[in-house]
Amino acid sequence: MTSRANIQVRALRDPAAFAAGIAAAGLLPSATHERVRNILASPLTGLGPYGVLDVRPLVAALDEGLCARTPLAGLPGRFLFALDDGTGDVATQNADISAIPDADSLRILLAGEDHGIRCPVEVTVPLMLTAAESFLTERAAQNSEAWRLAELQDGPAQVAARIAELFTSHVTVPARVTALVNTTATARVTAPVTTTATAQVAAPVTTTATAQVAARAATKVAARPTVGQTSAEGPGDRPGDGRPPLGVTPLSITPLGVIPLSDGTYAIGAAVPLGRLSAAHAAVLAEVAGSEGIVRLTPWRGVVVAGLSAEEAASAEAALGDAGLVTDPRSPWVGMTACTGRPGCAKSLTDVQADARASVPALRGSRSVHWAGCERRCGRPRSEVVDVVAVPGGYRVDFEGVSRTHRELDAVVGDVRSRRIG
Ligand code: SF4
Repeated sequence: MTSRANIQVRALRDPAAFAAGIAAAGLLPSATHERVRNILASPLTGLGPYGVLDVRPLVAALDEGLCARTPLAGLPGRFLFALDDGTGDVATQNADISAIPDADSLRILLAGEDHGIRCPVEVTVPLMLTAAESFLTERAAQNSEAWRLAELQDGPAQVAARIAELFTSHVTVPARVTALVNTTATARVTAPVTTTATAQVAAPVTTTATAQVAARAATKVAARPTVGQTSAEGPGDRPGDGRPPLGVTPLSITPLGVIPLSDGTYAIGAAVPLGRLSAAHAAVLAEVAGSEGIVRLTPWRGVVVAGLSAEEAASAEAALGDAGLVTDPRSPWVGMTACTGRPGCAKSLTDVQADARASVPALRGSRSVHWAGCERRCGRPRSEVVDVVAVPGGYRVDFEGVSRTHRELDAVVGDVRSRRIG
């Protein structure tokens, strides 16, 4: 499992048969756009206790719109969209284009920066798609090979300016962004993008699905404090200052244990140790979900099974635990991550996953740890972690600017434990 809630399936005996099987199951809807269908959504959206907007219709519309726009097949495979239901979980996951409810509209974040773009729910999908097209246009204008919006020079601000220009009657933008439209942005607009964007702005507005979402959002948003409100206003609270939003609390672990849902049913959340979901794990998940259950993956290498009765959730918790999945938030597996390491990665200096597994019993109560087989530190979470990086002859432990190198695993574990909270 990846930090984008994707699954990479390894050790296949017959890849062609496997591909045919998942295509038949509807998991490969677009041969041309498969690599760019990277959309994160709040794992409990529409079900959980914290979200204010069910983003499932937006996810479906964004996926459909992404596959329908030919130029977007040219997005880099690393480019990421996120639709947050107000929980504040996936808006903090470093997506290139994110949307999160904000009072009676949605706040658009560009590479995590708030440039003051607010739009009604029914315009969110065409706006996000146009922002992605604008990234491609800006990338071409800068003669860049950038994979991410943040890698472009002034990328988020340039895309904000293009959105302000193309969605004039649909979005609210601060004057600072509008001014940018009249200078650099206008010169960069190309005919194909303008045509595509304006032609698709109006179409989704009147669809039944988005109208229902709008009504639901209006009701729920009115019933709870605005996401993003803080008691002490700081510079980041003001729309359009380009800084990360304040007041959105990053949730950096997967939902765990039995979770009561808003419709009276229950979900069970589990972490997958080191993100390695075995065939046996998958079989148990399918069994506890049954024919009616809902299975969702999380970007914290976890899984949620929803739509269960209280009794089913209790027995599912036991079954998942017996299979080796983690439902206890106090488990040392929670917060432990590792890259592929040896033998899967040729760059790795050692089998980091084996060392991580061996160290788990001794690391209960320690800080979160990321093990890496080389300095690249693939899969490192965005949250604060102790880094354990393989070096010739041992490991180096890095935390808050203090690095120590050890030859023995016991010494590594002792060092990690010494970086205790508080
Ligand atoms: S961090 Fe290094 S060793 Fe680990 S998967 Fe990435 S490239 Fe390979």
